[in-house]
Amino acid sequence: MMKLFEDDYSIKANRLKFYRTKAWRMKRKEILERDGYECVHCKANGEFTIYEQREDGRKLLEIDHIKEIETHPHLKLDSNNLQTLCIRCHNKKHDRFQSKKNEWYMNDERW
Ligand SMILES: [Zn+2]
Repeated sequence: MMKLFEDDYSIKANRLKFYRTKAWRMKRKEILERDGYECVHCKANGEFTIYEQREDGRKLLEIDHIKEIETHPHLKLDSNNLQTLCIRCHNKKHDRFQSKKNEWYMNDERW
């Protein structure tokens, strides 16, 4: 039963916990390397957005779950469900620019 509860990623605390796991950190690095530290959306549009560490410690690239972790928790570490996106494309995908109420969500995949 506990396992089921921990897999409920509609709960923010569970998502944050997941993004702090060693398994995720390793998978994240694997996907960054696979995608050449480039945003796959920008690349498809002929632009070039690469990895960089900004002064505030935030990284420009994030790993996106193509199928959301909330609805597809079993795909959370599936390489086929993961892609490298820059913050801009990632925000666009999740429509974070328009809705202020979703602001809390922004940091989730930065861990
Ligand atoms: Zn991009």
